[in-house]
Amino acid sequence: MKKFAIFGNPVKHSKSPIMHNSAFRAVGFDGEYFKIELEDGTKLKDEFFANGLIGANITLPHKEAAYEASDYLDDFAKKVGAVNTLVLKDGKLYGYNTDAPGFIKSIKKFDNIKRVLLLGAGGTAKATAPILKEAGYDVSILNRSANRLEQFNSLGFKTYTFDTINNYNFDLIVNMTSAGLNDSNLPAPKELLDKIFPNAKAAIDIIYGKETPFLKLAKEFNLPSADGSEMLIQQGVLAFDYFTNHKYDLNIVEEAMREALG
Ligand code: NDP
Repeated sequence: MKKFAIFGNPVKHSKSPIMHNSAFRAVGFDGEYFKIELEDGTKLKDEFFANGLIGANITLPHKEAAYEASDYLDDFAKKVGAVNTLVLKDGKLYGYNTDAPGFIKSIKKFDNIKRVLLLGAGGTAKATAPILKEAGYDVSILNRSANRLEQFNSLGFKTYTFDTINNYNFDLIVNMTSAGLNDSNLPAPKELLDKIFPNAKAAIDIIYGKETPFLKLAKEFNLPSADGSEMLIQQGVLAFDYFTNHKYDLNIVEEAMREALG
């Protein structure tokens, strides 16, 4: 039986095991997928091999560590500096990033979106911002602290911290932070969101399976909104395709993952 896992901290909440295990059953692949809570990202590679894995997904806060752990990177992962999927081939670790394609698919349901504000400047924002820009969206980043914004500045994105923001006009507001995942925090001060939400057309929280304080507030402003379930499914299907070397019908995989999520 081939072994796969998701590394993260926290990782308790992850739905990836039920999605992938359900897809393994659906296509008749002899695999098992489980969770590994990892505190120290520098131990990722050792843990991957110690657990006898063939592939892994990586969630927060270790996507940059997974990038460092990769022996080979595909072009997109190289460009964004973050890896969410590792695959073992001939003793080497290959790093991919499937988050951003999944996210792009999930925002298609909202109309008339041009100006996108990403809250957060972590691994997922890093991967998603360039793809959104390439697809023609006008992307700005708002982050709690300034240091993670440097990379976005060098790529030509408009960036703000809570203290420097002076523009409140965006069509789509996206929570790409972990605020609300295991706490009741908003990703930005409420008085700031109170200025941003009235001008927006939609809001997405990429955290999935719960109504976060961010989504609750968006609803108070009567904004169309969505959680991160669709993104989760789409990134999972692409990761599965890498894990199983492009052998299976991805419609079957997607259906099995969707069913597993209920
Ligand atoms: P990272 O650890 O790389 O980045 C975290 C970001 O969140 C940083 O910008 C950090 O700001 C910010 N942040 C954390 N806590 C707070 C807070 N209390 N208030 C304001 N900002 C905060 O995380 P990832 O990019 O890997 O993941 C972000 C979220 O996206 C997670 O909740 C993850 O579960 C979710 N996710 C969902 C996916 C899906 O398929 N639906 C796929 C990928 C991720 P600072 O720089 O100031 O520390």
